[in-house]
Amino acid sequence: MSSEADGKKDVRAGLQVRGGGPVSAQGPSPRPRRPTRPVKVGPVVIGGGAPVSVQTMTKTDTRDVQATIDEIRRLHIAGADLVRLAVPDREAAKALRAIVRQSPLPIVADIHFHYQLALMALEAGVQKLRLNPGNIGGPERVRAVVREAKARGVPIRIGVNAGSLEKDLLSAHGRVPEALVESAERHVKILEDMDFHDIVVSLKASDVPTMVRAYELMAERSPYPLHLGVTEAGPGLAGTVKSVAGIAHLLLEGIGDTIRVSLTEESAEEVQVGLEILYALGLRTKTLEIVACPSCGRCEIDLFAAVREAERQLQDLKAPVKVAIMGCVVNGPGEAREADVGVAGGNGYAVLFKKGRMERRVTEAEMIPALVAEVRQIAEEKARAGA
Ligand code: SF4
Repeated sequence: MSSEADGKKDVRAGLQVRGGGPVSAQGPSPRPRRPTRPVKVGPVVIGGGAPVSVQTMTKTDTRDVQATIDEIRRLHIAGADLVRLAVPDREAAKALRAIVRQSPLPIVADIHFHYQLALMALEAGVQKLRLNPGNIGGPERVRAVVREAKARGVPIRIGVNAGSLEKDLLSAHGRVPEALVESAERHVKILEDMDFHDIVVSLKASDVPTMVRAYELMAERSPYPLHLGVTEAGPGLAGTVKSVAGIAHLLLEGIGDTIRVSLTEESAEEVQVGLEILYALGLRTKTLEIVACPSCGRCEIDLFAAVREAERQLQDLKAPVKVAIMGCVVNGPGEAREADVGVAGGNGYAVLFKKGRMERRVTEAEMIPALVAEVRQIAEEKARAGA
């Protein structure tokens, strides 16, 4: 979380009913969720009966801090719970500190082969690493990373991919589910031997039956939470169907603790598909969701008071309406447009957006009453349309 947001209320988490397990407002989930070890990623818990979280990956160059932060803010508004960033080199690792400081979402650093990048990411304050310990060059290097991750309470996701299986496994088994599981177990053992257990595992394949079977096998053999995904699912409809087929199948079996839909599309679309899967399976309930920026030196309104007031006035509302309250007219409008109703505060005034379009300017005193009136109107429209 950003330092600005430290200690401040997570507005979205406070209002959104995050279904999951047997107590979703839409009824019980299809099968009891598989018991797993809870793993903390900043304020988000993966496994241990926590609601299934939705994550995605930024498509920006991580070295471009502003572009990356802008994308993360859009993902926050879209409903992502955490976000992963590629860290291919030292420059990207150096950018992490500023990104972590400003990000409204927990950051996962995705690292291949370079243990020093993992150490830099940990020093920058990332909340999770995605790294395969068997690929970072020997026990001493793994130990250095594990020691630091443990000291900071940062978990590690082991991400096995059918496209990059170890050669010996490929020649012994081929690209089959059992080989994916064996590869994951090798990496897990390296961490367990160092008494590290804050582990999340993924076993991705672009072939849906292979991916599904690999996760089923792993779920029978391992206590660690599972990150579900169909890798390289592709663009548009075909990619969406592949992702839904694999992820939904497993979730219906009670398997899976966090999901990532991979599409050759905008990352916000991946989040939207992920959320729709959870809604469709009754693992999350659509309801009023208020998101707010974490605030920063640009903020020109009393953001926290405004958010509290909106929350108070809308607490009775059960409709699936997304509301954004942003602190400034520099970066706020982009995000405010993504919500059903959004406001971006200026000096003594605010700009009100509805369904992606700028509606009007209001005074700061009128801001929350105007927002609440628009939200109620949208809620009524949605109720009439049977949303
Ligand atoms: S005040 Fe503006 S720049 Fe600062 S976090 Fe909020 S929207 Fe972003």
